[in-house]
Amino acid sequence: MNLLRAFTHFLQSIYRRLFKAEIKHTKHLGAFDKVIVRSTREATDDLLEMGTLLIVKDGTFYKWARFQCPCGCGQKQVISLQSNHNPHWSIYERNGTITLQPSVHVNGQGGCGAHFFVRNNKIDWV
Ligand SMILES: [Zn+2]
Repeated sequence: MNLLRAFTHFLQSIYRRLFKAEIKHTKHLGAFDKVIVRSTREATDDLLEMGTLLIVKDGTFYKWARFQCPCGCGQKQVISLQSNHNPHWSIYERNGTITLQPSVHVNGQGGCGAHFFVRNNKIDWV
């Protein structure tokens, strides 16, 4: 009987591990695969597909970074790139890839709690 119970526990632990791994794999995006830059007037919500990072820029002035939360919760996020706003993020553009500093934490009202860095378009989960 004990052996059977131990075996059942063993199977359950494997199942849990696989299940968790799958959730992580399918829900948590590993990178933004598309960066688009638009002016304030051109930047619309329908550009915000999962995996797209929308940079709003007027002339040389960075204004906003907009995206769907990469955890898969579907929330649309806007973070400010304007240094006179608090909080705001620094943006670094290199060979068409984006790095944001500091990390992004989706913890506002009703926020999902997602916490990640964006480095050269890659999403590093915290
Ligand atoms: Zn989320």
